[in-house]
Amino acid sequence: MTADSATGPTTYEDLLAAVSVPADPTGTTAREVRDPATGEVIGHAPVQTVDDLERDIAAARTAQPAWAARPDSERCDLLLKAADAVEAAAEPLAALLSREQGKPLNGPNARFEVGACQAWTRTAATTVLEPEVLVDDGETYATLSYKPIGVVGAIGPWNWPMMISVWQLAPSLRMGNTVVLKPSANTTLSVLALVHVLNQVLPEGVLTVIAGDRQVGRLIPTHPGIDKIMFTGSTATGKKIAEGAASTVKRLTLELGGNDAGIVLEDAFGTDTSDPEVVAANDKVAADIFWGAFINTGQTCAALKRLYVPDAIYDVVCESLTRVAGQMPMGVGLEEQNVLGPLQNRNQFDIVDDLVKKAVDSGARVLCGADPDYDAPGFFYPTTLIADIDPDNPLVTEEQFGPALPIIRYSTLDEALHEANRLNVGLGSSVWSSDRATAREVAERVEAGTVWINAHGAVDPRVPFGGIKASGYGLEFGVEGLKHVALPHVING
Ligand code: NAD
Repeated sequence: MTADSATGPTTYEDLLAAVSVPADPTGTTAREVRDPATGEVIGHAPVQTVDDLERDIAAARTAQPAWAARPDSERCDLLLKAADAVEAAAEPLAALLSREQGKPLNGPNARFEVGACQAWTRTAATTVLEPEVLVDDGETYATLSYKPIGVVGAIGPWNWPMMISVWQLAPSLRMGNTVVLKPSANTTLSVLALVHVLNQVLPEGVLTVIAGDRQVGRLIPTHPGIDKIMFTGSTATGKKIAEGAASTVKRLTLELGGNDAGIVLEDAFGTDTSDPEVVAANDKVAADIFWGAFINTGQTCAALKRLYVPDAIYDVVCESLTRVAGQMPMGVGLEEQNVLGPLQNRNQFDIVDDLVKKAVDSGARVLCGADPDYDAPGFFYPTTLIADIDPDNPLVTEEQFGPALPIIRYSTLDEALHEANRLNVGLGSSVWSSDRATAREVAERVEAGTVWINAHGAVDPRVPFGGIKASGYGLEFGVEGLKHVALPHVING
């Protein structure tokens, strides 16, 4: 179908019918997909095999030379049209994402994610990457340009399944690679639906989805038909992928787990809480901190996962955050008023529940939440704020990946920086202050791929993003992101 005739599925039902497969009680060819908010079966995801993977990789290899041979402007044009197709199908895509992943339509959730898919695709198509003249001194003339790598294997997680797929596929396609995507088994239909829409515009074989489980995923790192892996997921899996990729010296981008710190400075909150204007200003900052932590109900790689607050404003910050948290409805994703949803799966619910129990057992103070209804349908864990917690408590030192934020007290800035930097992860982080220059000075001392000022997790398609330490390596987004899905090519002389 050409771009001009691509109208996109018009309803949720059409989109679901396009990607869901017939039920298979044996689980051999299909897996039940349940809404994490209600437990209701919403469809069936295909379970593909190693043979399917071989077929997809072969098709991607066949399609790649012709895709790479197209002028860059043509690939960009097709990507822009693909973004338009996503825009046309935005509502059904958001509904399917909400039902499979659990995230509400509203807030920084399903509609936001589908919007981000468009933004990142358009930016990948419009970012300028010119060959660079490195040296031109009369004797030496050295240039650096970027060539396609070949076939990119993209492996993704279940928290932002559509957006992270686009982060991987859009720059890869732009640079003349073809892509085989392996989504998480928890959110296969969402990725199939997104690719179904993109493929109304893209040529055949350029972008395929292999809906396999870990067994299929495990073959991708060692497969000689894959030239580069874009992986987003846990540090544990990232290590296995790096080991597997070593045998073929595959290029890798690893976006792994994090445990992002936020450091609040003393001037970020006013202390005269008898003044309503001070309270309102405090609550505005608290709302930004809240969404830094609770975006996608905390299931976000670069969410704020531990908050360091100085003694002088500790109580004010706790009060303000608790007030803000109380105003954020949690519930079934398709109900328009909700901005927080369930955990996506039982395993993640258990991880959050276990970490909060450990915090409560240690004597930490519960400001709100920590009281899940274990008998209710769905994997809902209430919005939880925990104060006066020991910096060594597992809720602080391990990645909770859910709606529970520990608030740790500090006395000196050196102490806060020491605590923020001492873990072996470094994806994002943030500094909160009314003075940008001071905040930037503190940010220089924070060990993380990105330090946001007065925001957290505010990714931008124009600005490179990537982790340090065990949070991975390689960069995505912007010009740097394009370079990471291409082969550098130097001509000297
Ligand atoms: P996961 O590592 O369990 O799975 C990620 C993907 O890897 C899935 O598609 C899975 O099927 C596949 N996989 C599992 N074992 C594999 C293997 N041996 N070989 C190849 N593929 C394999 O992660 P998850 O539970 O889906 O996601 C949550 C984690 O991802 C969290 O730690 C979170 O911080 C991290 N994450 C990081 C980023 C980032 O940008 N850095 C973004 C989102 C999530």
